[in-house]
This record gives sequence, C-alpha cells and structure tokens, in this order.
Amino acid sequence: MREIHAITELRDALAKERAAGQSVGFVPTMGALHDGHLALIAKAREDCDLVVVSIFVNPAQFDRRTDLASYPRDPEGDSRIADDNGVDLLFCPSVEEMYPDHYYTYVFVEDLSAVLCGSVRPGHFRGVTTVVAKLLNIARPDIAYFGEKDYQQLVIVKRMVADLNMDADIVGVPTVRDADGLAISSRNTLLNATEREDATVIPRALFMARDMAGRRGVAASRIMERVRMAIGEEPRVRIEYLNVVDPQTLRDVRQVDDKALVAVAAYVGEVRLIDNIMVGPGA
Ligand code: AMP
Repeated sequence: MREIHAITELRDALAKERAAGQSVGFVPTMGALHDGHLALIAKAREDCDLVVVSIFVNPAQFDRRTDLASYPRDPEGDSRIADDNGVDLLFCPSVEEMYPDHYYTYVFVEDLSAVLCGSVRPGHFRGVTTVVAKLLNIARPDIAYFGEKDYQQLVIVKRMVADLNMDADIVGVPTVRDADGLAISSRNTLLNATEREDATVIPRALFMARDMAGRRGVAASRIMERVRMAIGEEPRVRIEYLNVVDPQTLRDVRQVDDKALVAVAAYVGEVRLIDNIMVGPGA
C-alpha cells in the first residue's frame, strides 16, 4: 500500500493506473477505520482493480469546534488496517492541502440538505458536498462507495453527482452493526460502558418500527410514537430528530405504503449518534 499526502501525487499515480486500463474504486472516510468502513473497502475490492481510500477529517462539515476537536483520530492504526484490507492507495491530505489560503468555493445541494441532519447541523452538508466534490475531482474514480448508515449523505451525494454531471457511479453499502444492533460508528469509541449499553435502545426501536410497518398503510405518526416510547425508556438517550421520510425526496410521509426511511438522531450523554432503517412492505 502506498500512502499519499499531496493531491498532485495522487492524481499522477491514478492517471498512470487509468492509462493502464485499471478501474478505480474510491472510499472517502474520516478515518478511525472500523468494520463499517471495511465493508465499503471490501465492496470496492470486489468491483474494481484499484482501491483508493481517503482519510480526511473535514473541518468544513463540523458545525461545532468541540466536535471537530474530539473527533477520534488514529493515523497509524488506520494505515495498518487499510494495508491489511487490500487498499492500494491511502490518501491522507492535510487541511492546508484541501483548503489552502483563499479557498472560496463551496458546493451546496438545495432542499435535500435542509432536512433531517441538515435542519440541526447548519452548514454540515455544504461541507460534505464540497469535500466529496473535491475528492471525486481529484481521484476521478469509476465507482465511489458510501454507507447507508449516513443515508441522507448518500442521497445528497447521488443528487450532486447527477446534477453536476460527474462521472463516478455512487454505490450505497448496507449499514454494518455490532452484535447488539448498534450501528458501528467512529463516534461509538467516545461512549463510556453505560452509554454504549444505553445506545442499543436506538437499533431496538428501529427494528420494532420495521416490524410494525411490514404491512401497507401504517401511519407514520404511530411509528414515531412507538419509537419515541421505546427510546424514552432509556432516560439518558435524548432524541434530536425522528422522521419517517420518503427514501428519495427525504420529505416526511404520512403513511407507509411501500418503502419509507425511519431516520433518527439522538444524544447519548454528549455523543450524537444517527441511525436509520428502511421500513414498509417494499423494504
Ligand atoms: P465516516 O468516516 O464516518 O465519514 O464514514 C465514511 C464512510 O463509511 C461513509 O460513507 C459512511 O456512511 C460509511 N460508514 C460509516 N459507518 C458505517 C457502517 N456502520 N456501515 C456502513 N457504512 C458505514
């Protein structure tokens, strides 16, 4: 595995590979690599000749300084894990490399960026789409992989790529969960043992929602009420938002006829977690 820090070096390396007919799979991450990231890497390994992973904790997508400062980082561990899992190129640019002085350009996907996480984290998706647009322009992959764990991000990135006529195919990968159901996230390492245990109420509530909405016509309000009750049993878990939305438009639905996404953000102590599940007879 080759570790690269400079944009020009990555571009040169990939230009040579493309010229030799190699297909490029790309997995953008913020590091602290875990089994969720490894599922994306494994899919890229399966589909493409060359696997590129980026690790960049993108300041532009953090709405709070303290959140950026406490974000877990483990560059040496990441490098080892990437190497062990068949990554060919690991791209780790500095903040200055990505956002040099006089950086003024941002990419914003309207409408889809205003709901769910966008409604509570101002500027977050503007930061995400900006960095993803830059990374896709730098790596010019055939396929880029994103987790369904961040479902809204996946929908927004797909929209951006279509709207801006970018070349990459965007492929979603199902959420990887720990044995107790909790969606794996770099932020889980910030939970203490009690909080980690409390957090499992989130997937339990979502699985219950999926069971409830298995038949046509279940009201979204009923699903939300039951999910709120279930999560409410754990007083240390505070729901930030809970919505039942159309999986494409991310607009709230009144009832689940085919497929809907139940999306939740909750604080467990000081740690903000998000999760979602597809529900309905078509799910
Ligand atoms: P992050 O490093 O958290 O920005 O995540 C990088 C990529 O990995 C994003 O596309 C995430 O959606 C994806 N990802 C993170 N956690 C999981 C998970 N538990 N299952 C599947 N994909 C994930």
